[in-house]
Amino acid sequence: MSSSILGRGRSLEPMTINSTSLIAVSPGAGPSAVPIFHRTRILRIPRSPKVLAGLVILAVFAVLAVLGRWMAPYNPNTTDEKNWVQHVLVPGTGPGTDFPAQFYPLPLAPSAAHWLGTTVFAQDAWSQLLSSTQATLFVGLLAAAIATVLSVVIGVSAGYLGGGADEGLSLVANVFLAIPGLPLLIVIANYVPAAGSSIVLVAAIIAVTTWAYTARTLRAQTLSLRNRDFVEAARVSGEGRSRIILVEVLPNLIPIVAASFLFTSLSAISAYVVIAFLGLAGSPTSSPPGLWNWGEMLREGFANNAVRSGWWWWWAPPGVFIALLGTGLALLNFGIDEFINPRLRAAGLSREAARKAGISRRPKLGLTPVLRDRPHPASLRESDLPASGDGPGEPVLEIRGLSIDYGCGDEAVHAVVDCDLTLRRGRVLGLAGESGSGKTTLALAAIRLLRAPAVITAGEVLFHSKPISGDGPVGTIDLLAADDDELRALRWSEIAVVLQSSLNALNPVITIGAQFDDLLQVHRPHLSATERWARSAELFDMVGINAERLRSYPHELSGGMRQRAMIAMAIALEPQVMILDEPTTALDVVTQREIIEELIGLRDRIGFATLFITHDLSLLVELADEIDVMYAGRLMERAPAASLFRAPRLPYTHGLLHCFPPLHGPRVAMEGIAGSPPDLHDLPSGCPFNPRCRWAMPKCRLELPRMAPLDGDAREVACWLHRDAATVPAELALPDPALARGVGR
Ligand code: SF4
Repeated sequence: MSSSILGRGRSLEPMTINSTSLIAVSPGAGPSAVPIFHRTRILRIPRSPKVLAGLVILAVFAVLAVLGRWMAPYNPNTTDEKNWVQHVLVPGTGPGTDFPAQFYPLPLAPSAAHWLGTTVFAQDAWSQLLSSTQATLFVGLLAAAIATVLSVVIGVSAGYLGGGADEGLSLVANVFLAIPGLPLLIVIANYVPAAGSSIVLVAAIIAVTTWAYTARTLRAQTLSLRNRDFVEAARVSGEGRSRIILVEVLPNLIPIVAASFLFTSLSAISAYVVIAFLGLAGSPTSSPPGLWNWGEMLREGFANNAVRSGWWWWWAPPGVFIALLGTGLALLNFGIDEFINPRLRAAGLSREAARKAGISRRPKLGLTPVLRDRPHPASLRESDLPASGDGPGEPVLEIRGLSIDYGCGDEAVHAVVDCDLTLRRGRVLGLAGESGSGKTTLALAAIRLLRAPAVITAGEVLFHSKPISGDGPVGTIDLLAADDDELRALRWSEIAVVLQSSLNALNPVITIGAQFDDLLQVHRPHLSATERWARSAELFDMVGINAERLRSYPHELSGGMRQRAMIAMAIALEPQVMILDEPTTALDVVTQREIIEELIGLRDRIGFATLFITHDLSLLVELADEIDVMYAGRLMERAPAASLFRAPRLPYTHGLLHCFPPLHGPRVAMEGIAGSPPDLHDLPSGCPFNPRCRWAMPKCRLELPRMAPLDGDAREVACWLHRDAATVPAELALPDPALARGVGR
């Protein structure tokens, strides 16, 4: 039905612009109408050596727990007092004395017959160790399972239900939290007659004394989750309470639940070993008999002077097993975190890859690592530097051949490749492209704000500093060679950034005025408190907010006002460069327009250079002097704003411009761009846009086009359509208004 409306004979396929799916008519030629499927990623088992070691350790213990008693060469209770101990003559007895010979037993040291020697009771220590694994592990896992169920049910119910239920359940948890677990366990094990011989009862007692801490943690997490947008959305869409808890809330708690399960297992094993060591878990020789466990082995060894007599094979192996099992559980805990949390997984892999690549320094927050052969600033010769000045149009920030990877070595994702940008004083450079094209990565890495695993692998970023006010550095600075102190002197004072999410950038518990005051106090220490307040009011006035709102907290301002406040903060120190990363994307069009007009006014007044990042080309046309278009981490087209808007030369730019329906004129079928942005792990060969390009040629699938001048030096484009006398489609050969004006003159 839809096809008959949108165009007979044309197939429908999803089109995405900035991750927003639309239904659009596919281009008539060029790309396949079949949706583009990227290689399915199979969930990877963690490859970290730590995790693998943990898995191996736990697998070995699991085998021992299941098969240990059959693998044991002897029954752990079997004694052979004749052959399995040394008989040592008691001094003063036997031949030559008046007393009949008497002997005392000494355990045998490890041998081929007894791998871990024997005990003083003429029993095989290896057999006891193997047989003990099952009970020890069983108690640990059962106690952890019971404690986890209790903590999830009580913690999540308290957090989600709130009100009286929360108060009641929290009170119960707090009471259990206040009870000292181990002493209680010892008392119960001592006074409950069956406790010693029943490992199920022991596990239950341990679980009852350990669940409360995790329940409190889960309650706190649930409290924060229950008001999140996706839970609210589920609620208003009519989902039942239990379904919301099971489907929306619980999956987000899995890392905590898994970690607490492993931690409780370890605690339960320790607790079981302790009560067995104290003789409260039932001896195998008592009535009713208890089970062999590592605590019982330790108890027997210590009670019979094994430590002082040097019979290490009796007491050391159970201790080593306890330590090994604890290590395995802890390592697996890391693995669960990595497996469940993709961000941790990526960071872990990248750290490993970074180590292989030779990055020795620990990645610092706000200091993107640089892996390149770079000249030190002192080695930059004046003749190497471009001409710079402080007049309008002079270069202030030059990015040359910048490449940025996420991760290192084989695991690296090439997020930005060989990009050149020049920001000029008093000018606005627009950077456009779909989400994931590398715009933000490029801008933030240029000022070293991206944190690892992002790594700058090539290029240089030169900042030609001539402070507008204040006492910032003067001269050309290579930002990729700058150290922490140099960057700190530049950021905010000389290069300011405004991000999209203003609420995240403002401290929610401090008034906006206090945050302005902090900023001015640090960077303009000579100003008095009154002058700082006056300057803050002046800045608010500049962005169209009443100065009274300085007394407000961030949540008391609307989204537009908060964004204006952020812009006022960014210009507070009169920077030479402003990086605006989608500053108006989340705002309505009216507020958007007001903010853009204020930005243009501020730019004219202060004279800063602006890098404006957005996916909205139509917005850039009004604001920017020049627009650069990025795709799959590469710059693909650069042109004066009007030229790019009226006469795009790149098929991708043409697609971006035709994603939005015109407000005027006849109804036309939407063209847009077929398919989705490519997976940077798996880029197509040749031009990265070729699977989506309606004008793709065979050469496009083989060779990567590089940026090359077009129409003189006025613009550049990376597209084979504009090389080698290829036939340029009419849509990409519209007259350039800038050239037309030039001809007219
Ligand atoms: S080189 Fe040009 S025509 Fe070829 S696929 Fe890329 S954008 Fe399309």
